[in-house]
This record gives sequence, structure tokens and C-alpha cells, in this order.
Amino acid sequence: MIGAMLLTAAVSCGSQQGAKLSAAEFDAASAYGFVKTQVEFGPRVPGTPAHAACADWFVKTLRQWTPDVLVQEFKAKAFDGRPLEGKNIVASFNPEAKDRILLCAHWDSRPFADHDPDPANHFRPVMGANDGASGAAVLLEVARCLSLKKPAVGVDILLLDLEDFGEHANWSGRAEDSWGLGSQYWAKNPYPAGYRARFGILLDMVGASTATFPMEGTSMVFAPAVVKKVWATARGLGLSKYFVDTESDPLIDDHLYINRHARIPTVDIIDYDGARGGFPSSWHTAGDTLEKIDKNTLAAVGRTVLAVVFQEKQGSSPVAGNLEETSDR
Ligand SMILES: [Zn+2]
Repeated sequence: MIGAMLLTAAVSCGSQQGAKLSAAEFDAASAYGFVKTQVEFGPRVPGTPAHAACADWFVKTLRQWTPDVLVQEFKAKAFDGRPLEGKNIVASFNPEAKDRILLCAHWDSRPFADHDPDPANHFRPVMGANDGASGAAVLLEVARCLSLKKPAVGVDILLLDLEDFGEHANWSGRAEDSWGLGSQYWAKNPYPAGYRARFGILLDMVGASTATFPMEGTSMVFAPAVVKKVWATARGLGLSKYFVDTESDPLIDDHLYINRHARIPTVDIIDYDGARGGFPSSWHTAGDTLEKIDKNTLAAVGRTVLAVVFQEKQGSSPVAGNLEETSDR
């Protein structure tokens, strides 16, 4: 296994030579280390010491790279009525810039492995190496890069809490809007207050070696121009193996609420393949562990996101979202 990993890493380095300098600065090993650190806290289930410690670690880590780190604490109610406390964490780069880009990922772990093949795991927490930690890790590495090279536009990294406390599979259909509690709160109470962004990119499950990122259906409804921009950038970097040219079903994820309530056209880079049966096989199982994480996939996503950020110029025409873009698809 180590031999195969080294070989793919070497191939990846070769293919980076032609890429833009800014994109090549993303360090795959560093991003992988950020997944590992999160996993070492244990499942980051809201209300647990691991969750609290990991939040502190995010804040401390981000403050190495920018002084502008804010924590939005909020209360929410789970599908079964239990009270929850969450923390959305925002790190801003180039805070004075008016034109801004929002990059987000959820950082909490699911309390129930309710899709595990073994029913004994259905009320045990998910480690969330891929579902949670991978997206947050890519954004931490992006933050490190942004601290070394200032973008022309402002960038805000938003780590969202309480995405994955949605209704247990046994409850299915009884609770409405039980997923994305952190994004629902943030989108209705943007933080910093009055926050606006030109567009947003959400990362979710971006670490599997077999990852396939379709042009996700909800993104295509609310932000088709952003989808085109991101997928074209990935194609330009030779990453179409991951960023495939097919449209998926519309999914419920944090971007739905950011589009719906904050009206920021936001796309989801998420591992989903209808032909395969949907999410990766480790999704909401006891198998969502560090061994499933491939640093090449983290790098493919991180390089794409950085390239998109560095393409943006102050004052260039904003990306239109919603209906006007939907009609000319
Ligand atoms: Zn999940």
C-alpha cells in the first residue's frame, strides 16, 4: 500500500508542474495531517469533550494565519427535540475587501452510524474522517496558503457545526430541516453581521480515493454559473477525473440553506454518484475512518478552490445566481 501511495504522489507532483503557481502551493501532506488531527480527537459529536477540544484547535490553528477569527455560538434543537449547542467558526482573509468569496465545510461528526451494515453500530458515532474532517482539512490548508499569498478579493472560511445531527434513519421523514442546523442558523443570522459574498463553495466528503464530484443538482438550481466556473477551473487543472461532467440529483446540504436564506449563490463539491448508489460506501458507517482518506483527492479539491479564488478580481462582474442563470442553462 505504501508503494502505491508513493507512486500516485509522484504522478501528482508531475502533473502539478503545468498548473498555476497559486494552485500548486496546496500541500497534500499538510491537508492530510489536518484530517488526522481531527480524527485523533475522536468523533466530534456535539456535546462531547472531543467536539469542544476540536473547536478550540480550529480557532487556535486559524489564528496562526489570520487575526480575524470569530466564533458564532448558537443553540438549536435536534430532530428528537434535544437541545444542542453549536459553534460556527469564521476566519477572514483580506477583511477590508468588499468583494468576497465564502468557502465552507461542516466540521461536526454524525452521532449515529445509522447506515452501517451492522445494526449494532446504528447508535454509535461516526468517526467522520471523510464526512466532516476532509472538507475542514482542505479549508485549513487553503487558509495556510492564503496567509502566504494575499488574494485580490476577500475570502471567508466558514466551518459549520451541527450539519450531521439530522434525523436518525429510523425516524426518516418525521422531521423537517433537521440537517444543516449550523448553516440554517448562520444563513439567517449572517456573521459577521450584514455579511455578503459574491459566491460560495461548500466542501463535503472530499477525501475518498474514489471520489466523484458531479455538478450537484441543488447547486445547478441556485448557482449554475458558479458550478460552471468551478468545474471549468478543475478541468483546466487536469482534474476532470474527480470533477465529472454529469449532473446529480439535488441534495440537501449546508449550501441549500446558504442559498435559500443568505441568498449567496453557493455550490457543493460533494462525493456522490447516482450510478454507484449515491454517497461513498463509508457514508454514515463505522467505516468512515482515516484509512479511506487519499491525499491526492484532498489536493485535487484544494488546488481547484485556490485556483478559483486567485482568478477572482476586485470589482469584476459578480456572479449572478438563482433564476436568471437557471433560465439560460
Ligand atoms: Zn454526513
